[in-house]
Amino acid sequence: MISIKSKREIELMIVAGNIVYETHKHLKPLIKPGVSLLELDSEAEKFIISKGAKPSFKNYEGFPNATCISVNEEVVHGIPSNRKLKKGDIVSIDIGADYKGYHGDSAWSYAVGLIDDDKKYLMEHTKKALYEGIKMVKPGNRIGDISHAIECYANDHDLGIVRELCGHGVGNHLHEEPDVPNYGFAHTGPILKEGMVIAIEPMLNLGTDDIVVEDNDWTITTLDRKPSAHFEHTVLVTKDGYQILTGE
Ligand code: MG
Ligand code: MG
Repeated sequence: MISIKSKREIELMIVAGNIVYETHKHLKPLIKPGVSLLELDSEAEKFIISKGAKPSFKNYEGFPNATCISVNEEVVHGIPSNRKLKKGDIVSIDIGADYKGYHGDSAWSYAVGLIDDDKKYLMEHTKKALYEGIKMVKPGNRIGDISHAIECYANDHDLGIVRELCGHGVGNHLHEEPDVPNYGFAHTGPILKEGMVIAIEPMLNLGTDDIVVEDNDWTITTLDRKPSAHFEHTVLVTKDGYQILTGE
């Protein structure tokens, strides 16, 4: 069952989404060589709480921190540690905020100082793949239209698509129906309707699409250890298109 949000629910989700966006903006200047992942996580947690929300990921299925922070070959679900970022790293920070029971969810990949051209290419085109997906959001289109647009864009740019993980509905649960895969066929899947809210989140790899789960049972890395990027927005289906709730 895909929930259609009421006006009141949408108002709360706009606030939740904006808190996530503001948290990303708060972290961005702190992402520099020498900063530890735990410092970034703690800043995010304090910031979210200062806005009257709670970090959605903390204790979610036992996840220990406020944010997921994944470096280089880590795809998603990195657990913040004392590891310090180095010049040339790329770091993906996934942030969720729960405002009065409603969630916003957005991940963004950032360059740490100067990065090489391969990583620039990966980040640029993973971000563009996200917006290719978002462009398909309007009532009457189907989830498969989003999936197909992302898949075509990733294939055209020779990037590996992580298939084991996907986007999802968002609401008073962080993860709701429907699944929003990053590959699929146009004109298939659930029909989008005004008032639905979905997180679209391509995870693309510079190399192979194969992944492994690390020994901590959370962190997912690329099998070939080549870098991966992750861009995600929470998006509301409006009367004639979409509204991005977690940024622009
Ligand atoms: Mg998500
Ligand atoms: Mg997320």
